[in-house]
Amino acid sequence: MVARQIEDTVNETEVAKKAARKAFHRGGSTRAVHAGAARRKAHNSLNTPIVQTATYTFNDTQDLIDFMESKTWGDGHDREEYGRYGNPSVSAVERRLAALDGAEDSVLFSSGMSAITSLLLTVLPTGSHIIMTADCYRRTRQFCQTFLARLGIETTVVECGDYDAIEAAIIPRKTRFIISESPTNPYLRIADIERVAALGKQHRVMTMIDSTFATPINQRPIEWGIDFVIHSATKYLSGHNDLLAGVVSGRADRIKAIRDSRGVLGGVVDPQNAFLLERGIKTLGLRVRQQNETAQRVAEFLEAQPQIERVWYPGLESHPEHDIAKRQMTGFGGVISFEVKGDLMETAKFIDALHIPYIAPSLGGVESLIEQPALMSFYEKTTEERLAVGIKDNLVRFSVGIEDADDLIEDLEQGLNALHAPTRSIRQNSAAD
Ligand SMILES: *Cc1c(COP(=O)(O)O)cnc(C)c1O
Repeated sequence: MVARQIEDTVNETEVAKKAARKAFHRGGSTRAVHAGAARRKAHNSLNTPIVQTATYTFNDTQDLIDFMESKTWGDGHDREEYGRYGNPSVSAVERRLAALDGAEDSVLFSSGMSAITSLLLTVLPTGSHIIMTADCYRRTRQFCQTFLARLGIETTVVECGDYDAIEAAIIPRKTRFIISESPTNPYLRIADIERVAALGKQHRVMTMIDSTFATPINQRPIEWGIDFVIHSATKYLSGHNDLLAGVVSGRADRIKAIRDSRGVLGGVVDPQNAFLLERGIKTLGLRVRQQNETAQRVAEFLEAQPQIERVWYPGLESHPEHDIAKRQMTGFGGVISFEVKGDLMETAKFIDALHIPYIAPSLGGVESLIEQPALMSFYEKTTEERLAVGIKDNLVRFSVGIEDADDLIEDLEQGLNALHAPTRSIRQNSAAD
């Protein structure tokens, strides 16, 4: 009976792995709903069960010894040992994400930052050097420039889109990694993924793209030759602003090494959140296609408004890398950045006049979110300091949700009209400005 049960589990995982690989030729939505799941799950449940346990038991000492032997000799063991090393609810999501990214394997973490830091700590030796493009996620840059610097790992930051500068920054035998993001935050700049991958291959440097803003529905960097793709699953993948998680996808042997270091660094996602994430991923295709469409309409609307200085959206012809975006993406995403004609407080007045989007950090969920980076991520800086890092006071980042596009546009229109109304005073407490 017990043997039968174990055999069933082994078969279930094997079948699921095969199914995940078979999914590669299928469309994004089919992968999002089915990839990586065994057709028959425990108790004939349609959904992946939440295996809510911290540890896993052994029947007797022989069972334990057999497990340790198979682990030591690597002849395939398909059971778990302890929660930090693995959980079936988590593995199911990892297989699905691998299929979505078109990768051999994926490993899930408790947040996007945990995914990034664990990846870098796994692959970078002391004394090495990395190159990162500017306009990268602020905390990624902070991690590289402070924590990695302490380990003797140097970071060179180059302008986004300057491939000669990337090449020039490569130090033979020392540079190990090129980190880029596409689209970037908050300006939605687009890296030429194929070119970054080619530079990496030519100089034997590994490459990583943070593809959070694109999702695997709009862009699959691994298919262009990138070594590692990471996503903050907190954003589009989960899609409901209700959990934090992150993922790294790549070649199986490298992902195994990162999974091993997760067992040491400890950034595991819990089974409940894995379940919620799997549930969110099932509607990824629907949500993202809707958000692509709405964002395009909103961006075109904003670009035509006299109160708007400039709109940054890869789907607009005015976007500096529109052609690259068209080549490597199948949709331009749900985030739009734009500059309002006005100063810090006038821009805030426009935001306060809106009824539908919430003011909040984050993006990619079903609710529209809006923020003024100058007052959100860069509050403690002065206008001049913000300008030095490219953040204008009148910049607004808008993450469209799945509300009706007509309603969002109507709301933005009345918000822009409020710019001409008499000013209600807003007090900024710090001495920043
Ligand atoms: C949010 C975000 C992260 C960090 O992810 P968390 O899940 O918040 O830790 C990294 N990169 C990008 C592009 C993000 O938007």
